[in-house]
Amino acid sequence: MISPAILGRISTFVAGKFYKSCFRTISKSSTVSSTESNVMFEDDMPIKLKNPYVREKRQCILCRFNVEPDYKNVRLLSQFQSRYTGKTYEKHITGLCEYKQKRVEEEIIKAQNAGLMGYVTKEPEYVKDPPLFDPNHPFKPNKF
Ligand SMILES: [Zn+2]
Repeated sequence: MISPAILGRISTFVAGKFYKSCFRTISKSSTVSSTESNVMFEDDMPIKLKNPYVREKRQCILCRFNVEPDYKNVRLLSQFQSRYTGKTYEKHITGLCEYKQKRVEEEIIKAQNAGLMGYVTKEPEYVKDPPLFDPNHPFKPNKF
């Protein structure tokens, strides 16, 4: 024979299991069926941002302002000519990219051969122009 106390325990156990399963189904159905909660979830998703650590692309001064060297533009070309010797400054001083440096050198020779620029002198009119670079502090200084 089963005592009534044990019977009561079994009945409470079974009832507890039954209720638990009921609660589970209710909670599951509530999360799946509610569309409002899904909408809220999508609003809370993280926003895609640009990478703030990407380095800015380095450009030389002629590329930045889209200036094409020309042999008739003597004022610009004389900026790349030494005031004392009339020589053209090299790439590590001017900070130009390879293409523009080559173009500047070509155009300076062209202007000199055309008689627009001096070979060993700089036009005194252009001496006080604002400098594009400092020859005493070059972009890429020599190691020695
Ligand atoms: Zn450039």
